[in-house]
Amino acid sequence: MVRHRRRGEPAAVRPRILSSTPLPHAPMGRRIVGMSTGEPFPALTLRELQERIRSLFGRKDSRRGVEGTFMWFMEEVGELAAALRDPDSARDNLAGEFADVLAWLATLANIANVDLNAAIRAKYGSGCPKCQATPCACGTAKP
Ligand SMILES: [Mg+2]
Ligand SMILES: [Zn+2]
Repeated sequence: MVRHRRRGEPAAVRPRILSSTPLPHAPMGRRIVGMSTGEPFPALTLRELQERIRSLFGRKDSRRGVEGTFMWFMEEVGELAAALRDPDSARDNLAGEFADVLAWLATLANIANVDLNAAIRAKYGSGCPKCQATPCACGTAKP
């Protein structure tokens, strides 16, 4: 994973790739395969993701606030776009950019006191938000 420039923040604070070390409370039943190592590791729930990011960066994140954090989030979205467009981008780098975007989204949710698990369940947990069908049958999905 290529380390990116981190304006205004010490480098040690921002390796945003989630650790593949199993969390002590992670359920052991669900396993997915790690992209770089091929080693299986327990899947994170959305709630665990938010807790992980909060324990890693929570203090600093709350000091920075929503506006500053949103700028970092958008910068990571830009890095993801660049990695998706780059045919020479290494697989690990692409995966790392997805991880960055997700981690910064979790940070934003933490600061804004949004429970991502509850939010995604409420909106998409029982079908299309508009027609309730799975798959969507109303044409709400963007072309
Ligand atoms: Mg990035
Ligand atoms: Zn629909």
